Amino acid sequence: MTNQALLNRSLQSVWHPCTQMKQHEQFPLIPIKKGDGVWLYDADGKRYLDAVSSWWVNLFGHNNPRIKDAIKQQLDNLEHVMLAGFTHEPVIELSEKLSKLTGLGHAFYASDGASATEIALKMSFHYWRNSGKNSKTKFISLQNSYHGETLGALGVTDVAIFKDTYAPLLMQSVQMPSPDFRLAEVGESTEAFALRCAEKLEQYVSEHHHEIAAFIVEPLVQCAAGMGMYHPIYLNKVREICTKYDVHLIADEIAVGFGRTGTMFACEQADITADYICLSKGITGGYLPLSAVLITDKIYQAFYDDSTAKGFLHSHSYTGNPLACSAALATLAIFETDQIIQENREKSALIQARMQVLTDLPIRHIRHQGMIFAFDVMTQNALFARQCYQAATKRGLLLRPIGSTVYWMPPYTITETEIDFMAEATLAAVKSSV
Ligand SMILES: *Cc1c(COP(=O)(O)O)cnc(C)c1O
Repeated sequence: MTNQALLNRSLQSVWHPCTQMKQHEQFPLIPIKKGDGVWLYDADGKRYLDAVSSWWVNLFGHNNPRIKDAIKQQLDNLEHVMLAGFTHEPVIELSEKLSKLTGLGHAFYASDGASATEIALKMSFHYWRNSGKNSKTKFISLQNSYHGETLGALGVTDVAIFKDTYAPLLMQSVQMPSPDFRLAEVGESTEAFALRCAEKLEQYVSEHHHEIAAFIVEPLVQCAAGMGMYHPIYLNKVREICTKYDVHLIADEIAVGFGRTGTMFACEQADITADYICLSKGITGGYLPLSAVLITDKIYQAFYDDSTAKGFLHSHSYTGNPLACSAALATLAIFETDQIIQENREKSALIQARMQVLTDLPIRHIRHQGMIFAFDVMTQNALFARQCYQAATKRGLLLRPIGSTVYWMPPYTITETEIDFMAEATLAAVKSSV
C-alpha cells in the first residue's frame, strides 16, 4: 500500500495521540513500514532519521538484532502469565539487575510511564497511612513538570495545554519554582539559580511538611518543558530537604533514565538516591511497553503486614510481561558489554561540536546534557513547531520541536555521517520556518 492509501485509512479509523486530528488536513500523517538503525522508512520508500528516538524510547536503533533475538527466544517459552501468585525468570532477573543499578530493593511493574507515576503517588500516600501519619496526603512538583497524562499523573503535571481542560477532575498539587536555567536572572549562574530555587522549596516544605507525602521531580532535564536543564546541586538540596522534613522523594527518570543524561540514571550526577525511581521509555530499548517503580526497603517494609489492606493492592493485567522483561534484559546487556555510558561521552562531544553549524541561526540557550541536545529559536512564527517539523520531514529528518525549542535525542547508535546529516537538515529546516 502507498503512503496515501494508508494515511487515508488511518484517518478513517485511528484516533492519533496528542493531536488535533483536523490539523492532519494540512500536515499529512506519515505511514511507516519498517525501521532500521536510526532510520524509519515510509510506505513509499522514503527514509527519515529518527532524531527523537520515537518519543524518547529507542536507545540502540530500530531492528536491533540483540533485542529482537531476546524477544524471539522468550516468545518460544512464555509470552505472558499474571504476576499475582506467579513469577518467572525474566521478571526476577530484571528486578535483581535494576535493584543493583539503583540501590533500591524491590521493583513494581506496569506498562507505561504514567502508570509508574500513579503507582509512586499511591504508594507514597499509602505508606504514610500505614505509618499512622494520615495527614500526609499532598504532593508537590516543579513548575513546568511533566509526569504523564492519566488523571493522577496529570495532577502533578504543570503543562497548561495538557492540563487546563481537565482541571476540575484533578487532584490539587503545589508547584515549586523550576531550576531550569533559562528562567535564571541575567548574570545569575546556573548553580546560584538552582540554590535559590532550592531555598524556596525548603521554605515551603518547612511550613507544610505535615501534609506533604512526596515531592516528584524530573532529575536534571525537564524534557516535556522543552528540554529544560538545571544544575545537579538542586537535586542534592532536594534530597537534604526531603530527608530533613520527612517527605518522600520520587525521581521520575522515565525520560532521562538509561543513559540519556550521560550517566545510567540522572540522579547519579548528584550522587543521591530517591525513595522511588520511576522508569519506562528506554527500559526496553524502545521495543515493548514496560515501566517499573523501584522502592526503598523501608517503604516496602511498611506494607509487609498481616493485614491485607496494608498491602499495595494495585495491578495492571500485563504487569511484568515476560516479553517486555526479556527486551529490557537484552537492553541492559548491551549497556554492559558495549560500555555504552563511556562510548556515549565521545559521541556527545561529537554532536556538541556539530551543533556549531547552527550558531548562525537566531537561537539561544544552546545546551546539552549527555545525549540530549537543544536550543531555543527566537521567532515570531506561532506555527514554528509544526512548520519546522514538516520542513524537516521533507528533508528526511524526524524532528519534533516543543514550542520554540528544537532538540535532538537520537538513538545512541547514530554514526558520524548520520550526525552530519541530522545537523545539516536541522539547519535547513529551522532556517525555512523561523
Ligand atoms: C513520557 C513521560 C512520562 C509518561 O510516560 P508514558 O509512557 O507516556 O505514559 C512521565 N514522565 C516523564 C518525565 C516523561 O517524559
